[in-house]
Amino acid sequence: MMTPTICTVIWFVGIVGWYIIRRPFERKAKKVSVSKSLFGRRESGILALAFLGLFVVPAVYALTGYPSSLDRPFIPAIAWFGLATVCAALWLFRRSHVDLGRNWSISLEVREQHALVKAGVYRLIRHPMYSSFFLLALAQMLLLSNWLAGASGLLGVGILYAFRVRQEERMMFEYFGNDYLDYMTKTKRLIPWII
Ligand code: SAH
Repeated sequence: MMTPTICTVIWFVGIVGWYIIRRPFERKAKKVSVSKSLFGRRESGILALAFLGLFVVPAVYALTGYPSSLDRPFIPAIAWFGLATVCAALWLFRRSHVDLGRNWSISLEVREQHALVKAGVYRLIRHPMYSSFFLLALAQMLLLSNWLAGASGLLGVGILYAFRVRQEERMMFEYFGNDYLDYMTKTKRLIPWII
């Protein structure tokens, strides 16, 4: 049986799962030196917006029901689809962390002895972690029956992606040169064989 309350719990478990998956990688990443970082005010602002959309706005809705004027009808079939999407998002999030290994970072950085990863999920797409963010945001939309709390995640992730992807690819190209260009011709950004 799917109810709006169960959906809110599923959304929250998804966020907690996300945090649990990321933690060990964040710890390990701290031990590897960074040789070039683009982290600055702009980056922090973009990360803050993503956090606002994926966590703060839906959490306010979950706790207070605000803004109830933007509630939409609850449809169980959509909620089930939301559950499946959370599972897919967490799976891909973990998979891309494992594949990226010590080259991962929360911001745009090149680490000492940075290796270009082309294996695992990176064989098909260049930004599986961002794909998993989009999946998580989509799940939020399907699980929370409120237009604002539902859509805020997609907005946050959309901004993060739009501001980052070109800069990240330029940074990778500057560091890896033709190796990255060659990798680009063989892969898509977010969805295998499509975009
Ligand atoms: N955009 C990727 C990675 C996000 S983590 C994804 O969505 O899966 C961000 C860091 O990953 C960046 O600092 C960059 O240095 C590193 N990175 C991105 N693609 C990489 C690749 N193919 N191999 C190695 N490192 C990569």
